[in-house]
Formats: sequence, structure tokens, C-alpha cells
Amino acid sequence: MEVPYFAFRDFVPGVQQQLEQALVQMAKRGNFILGKEVHSFQKEFAAYLAEGTTAIGVGNGYDALVISLKALGIGIGDEVLMPSNSYMATVNAVLQVRAKPVLVEPDAYTYNLTAANAEKAITPKTKAMLPVHLYGQPCQMGELMQLAAKYKLRVLEDCAQAHGATFKDQKVGTFGDAAAFSFYPTKNLGAMGDGGAVVTNNIIIADFVQQYCNYGQKQKYIGELVGVNSRLDELQAAILRIKLQHLNQYNTERQRLAKVYLKELQSIGDLILPRTADNCNHVYHIFNIRTKYREALQNHLSKSGIGTAIHYPMPVHLQPAYTFLGYQSGDFPVAEELADTSLSLPLFPGMTEVEQESVIEVVKEFYNR
Ligand SMILES: *Cc1c(COP(=O)(O)O)cnc(C)c1O
Repeated sequence: MEVPYFAFRDFVPGVQQQLEQALVQMAKRGNFILGKEVHSFQKEFAAYLAEGTTAIGVGNGYDALVISLKALGIGIGDEVLMPSNSYMATVNAVLQVRAKPVLVEPDAYTYNLTAANAEKAITPKTKAMLPVHLYGQPCQMGELMQLAAKYKLRVLEDCAQAHGATFKDQKVGTFGDAAAFSFYPTKNLGAMGDGGAVVTNNIIIADFVQQYCNYGQKQKYIGELVGVNSRLDELQAAILRIKLQHLNQYNTERQRLAKVYLKELQSIGDLILPRTADNCNHVYHIFNIRTKYREALQNHLSKSGIGTAIHYPMPVHLQPAYTFLGYQSGDFPVAEELADTSLSLPLFPGMTEVEQESVIEVVKEFYNR
């Protein structure tokens, strides 16, 4: 049986029709930039996250990171702490504002940035922390915010993989000074193209972002600051408004699928399954398992028609693009081990029971050979 690593099947009954209708309406309406859909989505997404917070749509998740860093005043010479096992976007955003990414070893169990490891990397130049809620698991925001207060650091949350995840019943994206969300199509809340948002409860940051992403204009044709063009597309906003109504349902479905994997794959071979830390509601953007036989298991699954992915095969500090940062092999043993052993199993809203059984069967078969 063929099981794709990912498929766009999050269209619970009626959603497909709603999406098509929205596309047709948009084509007729002809208001394509920063119209009613963007404004409504910004309000609705902010309300979904927390009372009193603001969401500003931008072009993509990367821009959300860059613009947030700019808004926080991070620039030349500033050091930004981030986990060494994140996606390249997080590092590149820091480099884009000409600040210095300072990599930190992730926690061996949650794979996230911890206060203890971050504290060891703090220098007089450290200006900000950039925790990434990796795979959909929230970082321990209590201890990270305490550390930030102690050293007067800014906090930017990378929420690209964790829409709707909570720490102590509070949504990620509402802890730090600002948060960056991506609506890349495969994310927990995905558009039909690129999209992103900056979330903040700081009015000064919100004002800056609003202007910066639209050429620095507050009023049309009056440039208050030198900005860029990174606007959330009106069409994508219309799509996101519809899908936001089902985000909790999609996340619950991801959690249900994860529970089945966790039950069925426990104590199989040398598999290390994801662990959810205290006070976290994990939304399983990615279901990551680990094994020292990663290549062989991936090949075995592939021969049986089961798609998998690797997040990520090479840690940031060993990527050719970042040799100038001066890191070496052996600098982050946990991140290196993760890169060598991680495998992501299919998990997406709409995945069928039969498909999941097939994945489980083939994994078990691999260890019983
Ligand atoms: C997807 C992702 C991004 C970037 O989002 P884009 O919308 O693709 O630019 C940033 N950080 C993390 C952790 C991501 O997974």
C-alpha cells in the first residue's frame, strides 16, 4: 500500500467547497492587496492566539522572522541565541539583519532550546533568544522567559511548526516580545502558497511591522521609515480564514494519529519516540522517530511505498553555507546525533487508519527480519 509522507487532505467535509468559493469570489471582487480578507484574518488569528494580541500578515515565515528581528532592534554585532537543530530559515533571518546567530545545543529529549543551555552561551553581546517550537512541541517558555528577564534579552518565538500548541494552556506566540508564524502549505495552518505573520502584544513593535512590511507607509505614499514589500496576499488570507476555523480539529487529529504511533511503536527495536515535556500540548507538525538504522529503515519503508522525510539531515553548524561561523563537527553532539538518527513518519490530517496501520506494520516488519 502506498502511503505518502504528506498529502493535502485536510479538507474536512465542506471545506473544499468553501475554499473554491473563496477563490471565485476573490476573482470577482478584484481587491487583491491588503483588503478585507487580510484585515479579518489578522483579527481572527490574533483572537485565536490570545486576547489583546496583534497579528500582522507578511509574505512568508522567513520575512516574519526578519521583520520581527528588525522591530526588536536586532542588528550588526548583536548575538542571537538559537537551537543548533532548527531549519535554515531561522539562521538566515538572523544573518539577514547582520546579527550573529549563536548556536545552542538542544535538549536531548525535547530537541528544543533550554534555559540551562542558553545561559551558557550568553555574552555581553547577547541581545535576543530565538526559541523554535520544533516539530510542534512548545519550548519550556517559563524558564526561557525567566532567563530573558534576568539578562534583559528580547525573545522572538519561531512558531512556524506550532500553530495552536500551548505551554501551560497559553498558546505559543504569546510569550515573547514577538513571534513569527509561517503559513507554508504543509504547516499546521497552511495557505495555498506562501504566507506568514508576526504576532506581538507590543504596540510599538506592531506599528513598526505594519509599516515596514508595506514600504514603511502608515498613510499611503507617506514613507515613515525605509521598509520592504512583504504583504500577506489577500487570496491566501481568504484561504487561511477558512482553515483557521478548523485548526483545532486538524491539531486534534494529528494528536490522535501520534497517540496511535506512540502506542504501537513503543519498545520496537531501538526506536526512540517523541516525548512530550511537562505542561506542553504538542501539535505534531512532525512525528519524529530516531534509530541508528535510519537509512535502512527509510529504504525498507520506501520499498513498501511508504514516504518518509528527514528533519533535518545536517545540523546548522555543519552546513557548508555557515562554515564562516566557525563551528566544527563535535561542537553539538546532541544536534549531530539528531541529524544522524531522525526520521519523520507520515502524519497529516486525513491520513486513514489503514494507511497508518500499514506504516506501523512495515516498521515492525523491519525490526522482525
Ligand atoms: C517553515 C519554517 C520557517 C520558514 O517559513 P517559510 O514560510 O517557508 O518562509 C521558519 N522556521 C521554521 C522552524 C520552519 O519550519
